[in-house]
Amino acid sequence: MPVCPNCNYEYVEGIVICPDCNTPLVDASELKKYPELNEEDWVLVYTSFNLIDVDMLKENLESAGIGATVLSQKDSSFPAPGDLSVVKLMVKKIDVHAALEFIQEVKSK
Ligand SMILES: [Zn+2]
Repeated sequence: MPVCPNCNYEYVEGIVICPDCNTPLVDASELKKYPELNEEDWVLVYTSFNLIDVDMLKENLESAGIGATVLSQKDSSFPAPGDLSVVKLMVKKIDVHAALEFIQEVKSK
């Protein structure tokens, strides 16, 4: 079963190029040998109560070529005084090491 390592779509036998992104398809069994290729797991690397703080880190990471996403868990069913929602910074598993080093460097300044 050919799959696109970029989109993670599966295609029927006979298709060799992903119609979506023009990436040459690989066999699904081949893909499993390189788990980082389809590793879409996001890992929590930083939390803060300060959304601006996390947003700045995200921008820093992205300018360093590390994809990051911010998750703000606002629980409206649990109203708290002030803004106590935890803001989470997530990066992809393959970027965790670089991201942690980067955050450490930014935070030590
Ligand atoms: Zn594709």
